[in-house]
Amino acid sequence: MSELAYPYEAPASQALFDRAAAVTPGGVNSPVRAFRAVGGTPRFMVSGTGPYLTDADGREYVDLVCSWGPMILGHAHPEVIAAVQEAVARGTSFGTPAEGEVALAEAMVERVAPLEEVRLVSSGTEATMSAIRLARGFTRRTKVIKFAGCYHGHVDSLLAAAGSGVATFALPDTPGVTGAQASDTIVLPYNDLEAVHAAFAAHPGEIACVITEASPGNMGVVPPLPGFNQGLKDACAANGALFVSDEVMTGFRTSRAGWYGVEGVVPDLMTFGKVMGGGFPAAAFGGRADVMAHLAPAGPVYQAGTLSGNPVATAAGLAQLRLLDDAAYETVDAVSARIQSLVTEALAKEGVAHTVQTASNMFSVFFTDRPVRNYEDAKAQESFRFTAFFHSLLSNGVYLPPSSFESWFVSTAHDERAVQRIADALPAAARAAAEATA
Ligand SMILES: *Cc1c(COP(=O)(O)O)cnc(C)c1O
Repeated sequence: MSELAYPYEAPASQALFDRAAAVTPGGVNSPVRAFRAVGGTPRFMVSGTGPYLTDADGREYVDLVCSWGPMILGHAHPEVIAAVQEAVARGTSFGTPAEGEVALAEAMVERVAPLEEVRLVSSGTEATMSAIRLARGFTRRTKVIKFAGCYHGHVDSLLAAAGSGVATFALPDTPGVTGAQASDTIVLPYNDLEAVHAAFAAHPGEIACVITEASPGNMGVVPPLPGFNQGLKDACAANGALFVSDEVMTGFRTSRAGWYGVEGVVPDLMTFGKVMGGGFPAAAFGGRADVMAHLAPAGPVYQAGTLSGNPVATAAGLAQLRLLDDAAYETVDAVSARIQSLVTEALAKEGVAHTVQTASNMFSVFFTDRPVRNYEDAKAQESFRFTAFFHSLLSNGVYLPPSSFESWFVSTAHDERAVQRIADALPAAARAAAEATA
C-alpha cells in the first residue's frame, strides 16, 4: 500500500485503488475521479441512498456531486429502482425498436419546445459528436466554433481548450487528436461575441456550427452574460451556420426544460445526457425536424448504436423525468440556495476571497473575489485554497467534486439532516481554506 498523505485516508479505498492501478490506467475509468487535482485517495463507493454515499471503509458522505448531475432525485430513488427492476425482468436489450424509447423521446419533446425530433445515444460524448457530424452534413461545411473552458465530452475535434478533466490537468490539447481535426475547430473566449463575429468574418461560408454549453459548468459555473446565447443564435442565422446548444449538464436540471427553459433562446440542435438517463447510459441529440431529417435512415448522415435506446436505460430516464415536476425543481433550487449561503457565510467569516456563481440550482465556488466570465478568469482563482477546503470537507463527511473547475450538484433528497451536516463541516473547511498556502 502506498503511503497515506492524509491522516483520515481510507485504507479499504486505498487497497482498491492499488488493485485498480494494476489493471486500469491511473486506476480509474474517467480521469477526474483519480483526485489528481486535490491529491489523496479517491473514495471507492459501495452504495448510495438519497443524498448519501458510503465508501468501502464504511464512511458516509453527503454527496454534492450526484454522479456529476444525473442523480437529481438522489441515489436509489424507490420509484426509479422499481421502474428499472420491472424493465430488467422483461429483458435487457433487444436490438429492435421498443416502446420505452418512444416514450422517453415523447417526454423530452413535450418538455423542450425547440426539440422537434430526438435520436437516442448512450453518452453525452456520442451526442455532441453526432450533432457536429449532422451539422457538417447538413451545411456541407467543415469548421466548428467552440469556446475555451466548455467541455463537450471527449470528441476529437472538441478536445481543444476543453474544461472539466482537461481543465484539471491543464492540457490545452491531447496527443492522439490530429492537426487536421484540431484545425477545423476554432476556439474562442467564452462570453465574447466580438470574437464570434470576427471568426465568421474571417471564414465566410466555412463554419458549420457554433457549439456551446447552454450555461457552462465544466470550468466551474460560468453563466452566459445576458444576450450572449441570443447573439450566438443570431450570428449563426446570419451566416448560414447552426447553433448547437449542449445541454448534457443543464438539460432537465436547471429547469423542467433545462437552460432553454431559463433563457428561451431557440437552438437549431441540442444535446442531452446526465439527468435524462436516470443514472444509466442514455443521452440524446435533437432539434429542428428539417435538420434531423438528414440523419440515417431518413437521410444520408450515418449514425447508429447497438445499445441506443436501451430498454433499461430508457425506463430509468422516463421514471426520473416523470418525477421531476415543478415541486421537485423548487426543492432542488431551494436546497441549492441554502447551501450557497452557508458556504458564503463560512468563507466570509474567515475572510476568504471567493465568488459563488450560479446557473439556477447549479453552482460553484471560485476562490477569487472577481467575477468569473471565462476560462482565463476561472484559471486565475487560488485553487490551492480549494484543495484545503475540499479535504477538510471530505474528512468531515461531505463529498465535493474533486476539482475547482466543476459544478456542485444537489438533489431533491438533500433534506434538513444533510444540509445540517454540511453546515457543521463548513467552519473548519473555511478555516483550512484561509490558512492554505500556495
Ligand atoms: C458531461 C458532459 C458531456 C459528456 O457526456 P458523457 O456522458 O460524459 O460523455 C458533454 N457535454 C457536457 C456539457 C457535459 O457536461
